[in-house]
Amino acid sequence: MLKIALDLDGVLANSISVWLKIWNESRNDSLKLEDVKCWDFWKGLGITSNEFHRIFYKTWKNWQSIPPTEPDLLNKVALLKELGEVDIVTSRPKNTKAYVLKWLRKHELSDNNVVFVNIRSKKSELGYDFYIDDSPVNAEEIASAGKYVALYDRPWNRSVKESERIKRVMNLKEAHSFIKTYMLRR
Ligand SMILES: [Mg+2]
Repeated sequence: MLKIALDLDGVLANSISVWLKIWNESRNDSLKLEDVKCWDFWKGLGITSNEFHRIFYKTWKNWQSIPPTEPDLLNKVALLKELGEVDIVTSRPKNTKAYVLKWLRKHELSDNNVVFVNIRSKKSELGYDFYIDDSPVNAEEIASAGKYVALYDRPWNRSVKESERIKRVMNLKEAHSFIKTYMLRR
């Protein structure tokens, strides 16, 4: 059975929008989602990685305000499950686990297995065949590992070029089509 790793931040949860809201309110700034043009955009803000993660912790502490990336996640994830075994796989630090689980419950996704990847591990090294992810770094690593990734289109991954193993998708339905096409070709 095909094993599919479904990412959380940026793919199911539009957490960066809340990150930006916290940033804008505390720094009197007006950054928008479209302004986040690269993965390590926070470097351009002149903050440390620690500060970036501190705001991300605050973001998840405010889990109730994190919107889903698209409506009706329950049915869209259910469709993916027709193609294989789907785990929600996240590199979130474990200190946000309780908030993540609450968010998943709110969006009717708590039936899914959730995997918290150790900070020192790479997602690409885990035993999945297919990934749905928004990270440009993960996408390249997954492709290099000989696996496939549906790259969930976000402003910060637009520099990633498509290949046989990397397909840009605009939503979960397109990710579903990509995986299905692959299965039919096998
Ligand atoms: Mg992500």
